Amino acid sequence: DGLKAQLDGATPVMAQYLEIKAQNPDALLFFRMGDFYEVFFDDAVKAAGALSLALTKRGRHQGEEIPMAGVPAHAAEAYIAKLIRAGFRVAVCDQLEDPSEAKKRGSKSVVKRGIVRIVTPGTLTEDTLLEERGANRLIALSQRAGVMALASLELSTGEVECLETTPETLGTHLSALRPSESLVADRLLQDENLYALLKYCGGVLQPQSASLSDPAAGEARLKRLYGVDTLDGFGAFSLAEVSAMGMLAAYIDLTQAGKVPVLKAPKKTTSLAFLAIDPSTRQSLEIERTQKGSREGSLMSAIDRTITSGGSRLLAARLSRPLNHPDEINRRLDAVQWFVEHRGLRQNLRDTLRGMSDLARALSRLGLGRGGPRDLKVIKDGLELAGETIRVLKQTDAEDALDPRCPTEIRSHIKALTVSDSVADLRFKLDMALVEEPPLSTRDGGFIKAGYNSNLNELITLRNDSRQIILRMESDLQQETGLPLKIKYNAVLGYFIELTSKQADSLSDSDRQRLIHRQTLANQMRFSTPDLIDMDARIARAASDALTLELALFEDLREEVRRNAHPLQDMFDAFCALDVASSAAEWAEDMEATRPVVDDSLVFDAKAARHPVVVAALRSEGKPFTPNDGCLDASGQTGPRLTLVTGPNMAGKSTFLRQNALLVIMAQAGLFVPAASLRLGVVDRLFSRVGAGDDLAQGRSTFMMEMVETAAILSQATQRSFVILDEIGRGTATFDGLAIAWACAENLHEVVRARALFATHYHELSQLESLLAHTHNISMTAKEWNGDLIFLHEAKRGAADRSYGVQVAKLAGMPPVVVARAKDILERLETDRSHQLKLDDLPLFATVQAQVQNVAAQHAVESDVEKAVKAVNPDDLSPREALEIIYRLKGLV
Ligand code: ADP
Repeated sequence: DGLKAQLDGATPVMAQYLEIKAQNPDALLFFRMGDFYEVFFDDAVKAAGALSLALTKRGRHQGEEIPMAGVPAHAAEAYIAKLIRAGFRVAVCDQLEDPSEAKKRGSKSVVKRGIVRIVTPGTLTEDTLLEERGANRLIALSQRAGVMALASLELSTGEVECLETTPETLGTHLSALRPSESLVADRLLQDENLYALLKYCGGVLQPQSASLSDPAAGEARLKRLYGVDTLDGFGAFSLAEVSAMGMLAAYIDLTQAGKVPVLKAPKKTTSLAFLAIDPSTRQSLEIERTQKGSREGSLMSAIDRTITSGGSRLLAARLSRPLNHPDEINRRLDAVQWFVEHRGLRQNLRDTLRGMSDLARALSRLGLGRGGPRDLKVIKDGLELAGETIRVLKQTDAEDALDPRCPTEIRSHIKALTVSDSVADLRFKLDMALVEEPPLSTRDGGFIKAGYNSNLNELITLRNDSRQIILRMESDLQQETGLPLKIKYNAVLGYFIELTSKQADSLSDSDRQRLIHRQTLANQMRFSTPDLIDMDARIARAASDALTLELALFEDLREEVRRNAHPLQDMFDAFCALDVASSAAEWAEDMEATRPVVDDSLVFDAKAARHPVVVAALRSEGKPFTPNDGCLDASGQTGPRLTLVTGPNMAGKSTFLRQNALLVIMAQAGLFVPAASLRLGVVDRLFSRVGAGDDLAQGRSTFMMEMVETAAILSQATQRSFVILDEIGRGTATFDGLAIAWACAENLHEVVRARALFATHYHELSQLESLLAHTHNISMTAKEWNGDLIFLHEAKRGAADRSYGVQVAKLAGMPPVVVARAKDILERLETDRSHQLKLDDLPLFATVQAQVQNVAAQHAVESDVEKAVKAVNPDDLSPREALEIIYRLKGLV
């Protein structure tokens, strides 16, 4: 009814616009009018703002002027990209027929228009809209019968995945997948925590109504999407999973306006398959991005030597979701090792891969009926490279000659690169059909090679011959009239004869009669002849017939590519995996990295390890990095379960902690590690509490954040987990902080029993070594030299002797008077030991709570005694008074 009221008095085109807009209220509507996309009403105001376009007016609607903005159709992609980045969705509405068709129906009739696509952040396919080296995922989250499921789709590679999750582990998955857009059932968004989490790492949120998450409807949609009668062939999915995947299917249907993408079979994974890394750990370890959000300085950028963008995306995916099973990890490591050991092979492979374009994305565009001749060329080149790659890998042309030691991983890639008869057919056709450098778009034709299709040949010959005929006509006319006239062409008149005004004046009467006047310009006159008009029509028809035919041939080829999409996708995956393995080997050689020994034990034993990012940064400055050992064993048999790391600020404590965590990630991602050796019993979850990242957005103080994260670690970590904790308790009063740090360390050791590294500036904590069975102290060494502090960055057994805080302050450029005064105060504090809390005889408690309370209680009593003792002046006391004081003190304890 609202629409009816709106339509009142609208012009036919405006009525069409309003109807289409009403179906897509949440998206900016790009409405095609001739060579432009126009945007009207509120959309115009928003788009003009976001794109810095001029806001104009176009007629009136119901008495008001209609605001309008427009962009040229040929440049629309760039504008759409900008709008997507600004958080909009864009509905693209095209003309679905030639305007001449509409005219045939009557002068008032409007060109048919319809939505061809809704562009959203999670459903992009264009290279200009996609980040080359980043994945772009759409996810859906649903809950059914108490089970929560997450489905994810990467439209540009056709990857579909689903898994069951819980609200607690959702953050881990979201931060690994980094979706650009999340479809979430309305109902779930009412949960405040879930909403906050999705807001934080879910990309753009799209609430979905209950009908979209209905599993039965979802199943029907999925069957249609995959063209199957049952989903059983893909595996067994829970209701929640079907519901989530069904939401994806509905959204694809909506945004692609019914076009069916080429998707891989949905893959069911489980949380158990991957090393779990929660969002804050991921952030603090700067795996894909630094805390500030840049790629530069992240682990990914330090080790990424991949050549293809697909390889780079795969490496990022592996780093964000390392594996959990030694066998799988070792299979990846086998491949890397093969390329470490075969240097020449590696170089040849990498040289070959340099010729690769983004096959997956070309394929997805062609699959969706987008894409152009150049995408076909990408497929063609990819197929050619496949053959070449196999030859390189086999190091010979012989059919079955393959080194018998070649690992299974690489054998499986060779298999995927080996083309079937059907794909070979496709390759042959593309070879025959495509010109060397085809244009991006089909619009102007000219991409099919001469000789591919006999009909096309005829049309092209006719077209070319006609040109010869025109040239002959021109010279005939010149002779007949004795004038140097020209036959020219433009889009409005077609072919015409052009004379200067002077020449036209000198025309003989008979010539003038033969000519048909077409146009008079300031200095020229234009004519035609019946022969020329006829020829013009024939040429135009030949050109348009040729284009039509070229387009049909393009469609055939595209269809053939679509039919072969699955083997092509497998081939692409093999390219990416080979790129990753050989690049990892390249990096390993460069950094002298070694193959980790990954097994089922609870050991972590790194020898002479380095921080992959810091070492690279220092190297570029010509500075050395001090390698350090790190040894832990949750069983306590071959090393400590808990290691306490002390040392002055800037000595390298955090670097040491992070470096060990990064080794775990790299090893489980199937990469070599920057260490002389590493033995690693697979880790199930990695936790880190490093640095003080204030979360002001959520209104939590640094200390609160620290406690929340630490609480999560203590409650979720298992004996198979790996924990790094940096400076717990720093954000509060000294005694509180020390008490909490002490209690956490104890709990980690006694209750959680995980492998843990614990850095602290509370030297008191080093006493734990003698109190807990499997605890070591190490310290990052520094030494004083002529009053200055020199950091050795060496991890040594034993606690640090002092904290050198004042020296660090001096290094930091504190004014000399302040440094001198601080030294003075420090000396006094150090001689007056009564200010220090004695923790030697603190008993062990099972729970954190009890420990904290106890420390607090003891603290209070001691200060009363302290007060009493401080009030005493022994020299003034008689023996009797002294005895009384002792009784009083006894009463206080
Ligand atoms: P802390 O946590 O003890 O304050 P950091 O780990 O932040 O110290 O290290 C401070 C700086 O020292 C780093 O930025 C790095 O440049 C350097 N550094 C740390 N570890 C090493 C090492 N093993 N070898 C060389 N330089 C190091």
